[in-house]
Amino acid sequence: MADTSTTTPTLAELATAAAVAGAPVDHDRIRRAVREILLAVGEDPDREGLQETPERVARMYAEIFAGLHLDPALHLQKTFTQKADEMVIVKDIEFASCCEHHLLPFTGKVHIGYLPDGRVVGLSKLARTVDAVARRPQVQERMTEALADLIMNEVNPRGVAVIVEASHSCMTIRGVRKPGSMTTTSAVRGILKTNPATRAEFMSLVFADR
Ligand code: ZN
Repeated sequence: MADTSTTTPTLAELATAAAVAGAPVDHDRIRRAVREILLAVGEDPDREGLQETPERVARMYAEIFAGLHLDPALHLQKTFTQKADEMVIVKDIEFASCCEHHLLPFTGKVHIGYLPDGRVVGLSKLARTVDAVARRPQVQERMTEALADLIMNEVNPRGVAVIVEASHSCMTIRGVRKPGSMTTTSAVRGILKTNPATRAEFMSLVFADR
């Protein structure tokens, strides 16, 4: 069993990856739109503090939506032979995404466990996959399912479980305004779905230190 935390790619690495992918983000269009929003809410987009805001926001969106121009499956296509078929768990993979309903951030942690069927994937690749899936307009439920399906399809393990725990800005700073509320979603596939003992092992390893 491998139980390790890992680091996600830096923002600079992600920006480079987006540049390599060609990142067809229309900065000028975002600048115009942000200027319109500022006018619409009654602000003066030409006052000193806001003059460069449209450009900053354009760069920000290019960065936080960089995953739109990346194929998350790519990170999982290089696998290694592994004889010991014990459960592999990578927990506390930090991520930042953007809720597609409000375009506000939601941030948290992903925990992934899978039971290999002779093949494993590099641990850092799981973190890179999380980033590529998170960096787009997203909902937590779909992100969770997408990660489980990607690992199932690309690594072909006997089973996989993904848990995502996140705090949604659209629930903390607006609407119901519940700071501190966490949303937990999970997706299980294969033997982790059909075998309660295997699933219980995963849960106890992920939540062991709580
Ligand atoms: Zn939202």
